[in-house]
Amino acid sequence: MNVIQSDHGWIEVICGSMYSGKSEELIRRLRRCQIARQSVSILKPQIDTRYSNDYIVSHSDLKIPSTPVNSAIEILEAAADSDVVGIDEAQFFGMELVAVCQQLSNNGKRVIVAGLDQDYRGDPFEPIPQLLAVAEYITKTLAICMVCGNPANRTQRLTQDEERVVVGGRKIYEARCRKCFKPPLN
Ligand code: ADP
Ligand code: ZN
Repeated sequence: MNVIQSDHGWIEVICGSMYSGKSEELIRRLRRCQIARQSVSILKPQIDTRYSNDYIVSHSDLKIPSTPVNSAIEILEAAADSDVVGIDEAQFFGMELVAVCQQLSNNGKRVIVAGLDQDYRGDPFEPIPQLLAVAEYITKTLAICMVCGNPANRTQRLTQDEERVVVGGRKIYEARCRKCFKPPLN
């Protein structure tokens, strides 16, 4: 992607299944902004304290300091003075995040959002579909299917929980391809 600094804002979405490298890619882009001495705000939802409260941490142990926030609206204030805004685990912020990203990018900021595009049923996971519609740049990342080794774009829940949001790692979720993914029966 050829990103040239200007007074125009835009939205970049990085989406895919769990373990597909969304956080790695987000961290890579944000590091480059920091090297270029741009002012960068990095936010994640308070709910996601799996690995750390104060960092975005990838499954490959890359990390970058971040600020936990309780709602999408809080991002507006937290990022008010930044050129670049990085947001991880977008699916936990709900639909409010769309208007927030629109406002930030309309104000001239580069907004980079990473999140799951499908839930454990394989259904589109708001607000990512809506963000994809308004984004300038879209990156879909793929993991490796843990059953057959092909590229995977689904997240298999390994437990019987039926809530849409169950925060967890390797014991609860694995990456699966279209063929090996088994949606829940009910
Ligand atoms: P995401 O944010 O999409 O969950 P991360 O960026 O946190 O992904 O982690 C990606 C890393 O996860 C990979 O580089 C690899 O080290 C590790 N990993 C673990 N399981 C898998 C898998 N099934 N397919 C690909 N990478 C995996
Ligand atoms: Zn498979």
